[in-house]
Amino acid sequence: MSYFDNNATTPAYPAVIDALTAAAQEDWQNPSSPYRSANRTKAKLSNSRREWAEALGVDSSNIIFSSGATEANNWVIASAAQNHSPDSRIMISSIEHPSVEEPARFWFKDRVDLIPNLSAGTICLDSLISKLDQDRAPVLLCMMAANNESGVIQPWLEVARICKERNIPFHCDATQWVGKMKFSDLHQCTSFTASAHKFGGPKGIGWLVDQNTSCLQIGGSQEGGRRAGTENFPAIEGMGLAWKESLTRFVGMEKRATWRDQMEAEILSRIPGTQVIGQECDRLWNTSLLLMPKFQNLDWVAKLDKMGFEVSTGSACSTGLSGTSPTASTYSLDAMESRRLLRISSYLAHTKDDWTGLANAMVQSYEQLLVAANESSVISL
Ligand code: PMP
Repeated sequence: MSYFDNNATTPAYPAVIDALTAAAQEDWQNPSSPYRSANRTKAKLSNSRREWAEALGVDSSNIIFSSGATEANNWVIASAAQNHSPDSRIMISSIEHPSVEEPARFWFKDRVDLIPNLSAGTICLDSLISKLDQDRAPVLLCMMAANNESGVIQPWLEVARICKERNIPFHCDATQWVGKMKFSDLHQCTSFTASAHKFGGPKGIGWLVDQNTSCLQIGGSQEGGRRAGTENFPAIEGMGLAWKESLTRFVGMEKRATWRDQMEAEILSRIPGTQVIGQECDRLWNTSLLLMPKFQNLDWVAKLDKMGFEVSTGSACSTGLSGTSPTASTYSLDAMESRRLLRISSYLAHTKDDWTGLANAMVQSYEQLLVAANESSVISL
């Protein structure tokens, strides 16, 4: 099976599974307990935090290990609402993941402003600057680094600079960025989050880096008192190892984008009427969002699945929902068009042959779907 849905989740590296098992067997103690074995786990936990702090260029006290990005995004937004007056406003982009968009609307109600978009799917920096300079400043601005559906990269570093100049806290959802792109500049954001299962690590673990004092959970002194609850050391250990494993495979990233581009070129020429969403923008090297000219995405998914290729209909969070996803709305796709979207997302183990195999399987699926459609129209005559 060739798995092309890595923006939903990635398989854990074998070394990560070994590390998880070893830590669960040897370092299962509660790091807050007073004896030597627990102290050893506590020391390993501090070591993990220190390694992340060095990699990210931040103070280790600013790293909060969380259950992932959904939790972290929720809490940053909830904290902003709780720490400011009831008439304060938040600004988000229109293509945010539901774990940003929904908490923003929940906590700030009708006080949510949208960052203006360009039609290609990136935000418009000039319009953002004039909006920030003319209107009342938001107490928090949230924008993702790269989109989970289209892979389109947002100018997050420029937004970090614009916000810093105006003293506006900027939270960057870097969930799809970390593990695919270098992250040495992320510390320019006031806060940012990542999730291990997007880069070959275990599920249910991630981190929030936050220079503000937002508190995720109370009721214990863990994570500097900012997220109470016994730490999941085995998962934290597995996450660190996943990051190191990904780093060793980072060379040749441009080459990987070329494989994706070749697959798209093949599809565009052999399946007339296909559109590549966000093609004119900078995109993550692993992602391709295709608007197919015919047939519902679930029909494509089923055909490709039988041929040994697993792809998605859009973000895993929106699969099965009847409305359009934020990305579909950004590109002004109606409900029918949204149902023709296919998301393809590779990861670091994929080869050029995997991409070529996928392109061929898509063409074959198209031919089979055409035949089936012709047959059913003959039967109905
Ligand atoms: N933000 C983005 C951009 C995502 O793609 C996802 C995962 N689909 C999340 C947040 C939520 O991440 P988690 O699974 O860690 O809660």
